Amino acid sequence: MKIRKLYGKIILRGKLKAITGLKIGAGRNVAEIGGVDSPVIRDPVTQYPYIPGSSLKGRLRSLFEIYIATLKDDPNFFNKDIGTKDNPVRIHVCEDYEKAVVCPVCRLFGASGDKSNFPSRLIIRDLHLTEEWRKKPLEELTEVKPEISIDRITSKTNLRHFERVVAGAEFEFEIIYNVERLDQWQEDIKNLFTAMSLLEDSYLGGSGSRGYGKVQFAFESIELRPLKYYQTGDEETVFLVKDVKEKSTKTLLKEFDTLFSDIKRYLEEEVKSPKEAVTGGV
Ligand SMILES: [Zn+2]
Repeated sequence: MKIRKLYGKIILRGKLKAITGLKIGAGRNVAEIGGVDSPVIRDPVTQYPYIPGSSLKGRLRSLFEIYIATLKDDPNFFNKDIGTKDNPVRIHVCEDYEKAVVCPVCRLFGASGDKSNFPSRLIIRDLHLTEEWRKKPLEELTEVKPEISIDRITSKTNLRHFERVVAGAEFEFEIIYNVERLDQWQEDIKNLFTAMSLLEDSYLGGSGSRGYGKVQFAFESIELRPLKYYQTGDEETVFLVKDVKEKSTKTLLKEFDTLFSDIKRYLEEEVKSPKEAVTGGV
């Protein structure tokens, strides 16, 4: 049994803006009569398009895996095959707790290995449209684009209709990071910003090679909710990171030491007198 601790939670909030059209499919690929071949994923109640937190998290993880594999220069880093015989897809997963807790990828994004699981320190909530964008009529939020693909073997052309969220749309994000190790949280948060920066120069969702899915993050707030907050509910115990509003992921990386100095000081005190930590078995 491994003992895990919790010193508090860092909550990061802000906006994700679609710079180009965004194609996050509902996973349905069957044409309805009069419908599109590939609709965007929508909230079943409001019908507004949204971005599942798992889609954003998965994308951040895969970009960050490549980054770490490059730094480590380890040919066996991508150790698990989740594809098929004809289409192998190799990913990285640490097999046990001891490896995961020191792995920058698995300790942040989690690992479900053969021997044990390592729950992710990150929670990414579903991203819903901002209030401003929710005021717009549904038909202005998405557009349907015809796309022609050519079968390389038969040379037959195939016309399909894809739906995408229009460029400019803004979604709200909320990311929660569990501070479980006082010697790792700074590196973990910086790694999160690195993954977010990598995504901004890559794409989210489908058809990235056609120019879809360019996104940009702008932060609204970052705070540490220490255990005292959960014990007392007192807002005064929360540490707000100052001057975060509208900042980009790159600026946060650059100004990390200054911005996080209050949180750092508080957590360093915790190292000296770690009486508050909650412990639990995993
Ligand atoms: Zn790992």
